[in-house]
Amino acid sequence: MDGLMTRRTFDIAIVGGGMNGAALALALNGSGLSVALIESLALDAGYRPNYDDRSIAMAHGTACILHDIGAWEPLRQNAEPILRIHVSDRGHFGFTHLDAEEEGVDALGYVATAHAIGAAMAAGLRTAEGLHLFCPATLEHFAAGPDRVDLTLRQQGQPIQIGARLLVAADGTESPIRAQLGIPVREWRYGHHALTANVTPTLPHQGVAYERFTDSGPLAVLPLPGNRCAVVWTALDHQTEEIMGLDDDAFLSRLQQRFGHRLGRFGMVGKRTAYPLKMRQVREHYRQRTLIIGNAAHAAHPIAGQGFNLGIRDVALLAELLIEAARAGGDPGAETLLQAYASGRDRDQQGTTLITDILARLFTSPLPPLRVARDLGMLALDLLPGAKHLLARNAMGLGGRLPRLQR
Ligand SMILES: Cc1cc2nc3c(=O)[nH]c(=O)nc-3n(C[C@H](O)[C@H](O)[C@H](O)COP(=O)(O)OP(=O)(O)OC[C@H]3O[C@@H](n4cnc5c(N)ncnc54)[C@H](O)[C@@H]3O)c2cc1C
Repeated sequence: MDGLMTRRTFDIAIVGGGMNGAALALALNGSGLSVALIESLALDAGYRPNYDDRSIAMAHGTACILHDIGAWEPLRQNAEPILRIHVSDRGHFGFTHLDAEEEGVDALGYVATAHAIGAAMAAGLRTAEGLHLFCPATLEHFAAGPDRVDLTLRQQGQPIQIGARLLVAADGTESPIRAQLGIPVREWRYGHHALTANVTPTLPHQGVAYERFTDSGPLAVLPLPGNRCAVVWTALDHQTEEIMGLDDDAFLSRLQQRFGHRLGRFGMVGKRTAYPLKMRQVREHYRQRTLIIGNAAHAAHPIAGQGFNLGIRDVALLAELLIEAARAGGDPGAETLLQAYASGRDRDQQGTTLITDILARLFTSPLPPLRVARDLGMLALDLLPGAKHLLARNAMGLGGRLPRLQR
């Protein structure tokens, strides 16, 4: 870790050491670019809110990127392969399934806790010799000019001045950098919370991820190592407080009622957390020498488990453009590079948040015509192998043009 360094200018300063900022730092390590990572929470802090017990379903393509940046090996043993996805509508006829074997892959994706992903990222960052970690340190102020961005950090109570040719904001949903730049966003709340908890079923989960649509919202039960299951339960805002207030036995029995007995009986519930759900999308990806990525640029309903999968595709394209520019002796903060990033990522970001939004509305609506439509849709998918294959490719993060890291 650097001490009190003053007025050094880096090629890239990344603010935010969450999953996306940390992944970008690892992707650029060894590229010849000088990179500073600024994160306000210590790497070894016992509890980091963004690396908590929530479970992250990672697409096959995400695992490929993590592999290439060296974060997959330390994570592998804590990530459970998804062998089958089973989607059903509680009490109605529609259901469909996707199968790794039918798709000719070892796994459709993987599930790990955010905590395990954070530990794997931290292990990589600690040993990455080319990175300058300002951690814990907080960005307090920045000013972009035509040639560089000046940043004022605070570390151990002391102000530090550094410069960067490109500032990357990976500073999360409430992004202070985005706010300071006044970048407009499109956003709305869903009126739902996602309640998360990890439970242990009496029957083996056999690598099956369940997405079950119920009258009060979708319920995902995802496989974790050690035959644990991660529960992501979408509840209406007004139900959230009541469900969070239940004791463990009452919570488990409510969960059992919603999910049924495919996995036997649920027991041993871990810590429960409730997250308010909103959709957000930036209207501009960059301003002078400053680029917005990850949750700072987009937030989606977790119904399709796309947040990190989308963010890491931002990371993959940005790393590819920066490394190409470095090889050609180009400027990492050049307007042409920022424009190439924006046009390369806009479609995926807009498309993924839009589809997730449609799914969230369709699958959280109790209206009978919408319920019939979704049941017919699932039935059609199950009967049309071509459509299912397309869905599986997208679920694996392999749809559309792939950045080099993901290939
Ligand atoms: C319930 C739930 C379930 C989810 N499930 C899935 C899933 O199954 N699959 C999936 O792909 N995604 C999922 N997600 C989304 C995923 O968790 C996020 O997309 C991901 O964590 C975002 O990472 P990030 O690095 O962009 O932002 P963050 O994790 O928010 O990181 C931002 C970092 O910036 C730091 N920071 C902020 N300001 C400053 C500053 N001024 N100076 C220094 N540091 C600063 C913060 O300390 C923080 O560490 C889920 C989310 C939720 C809530």
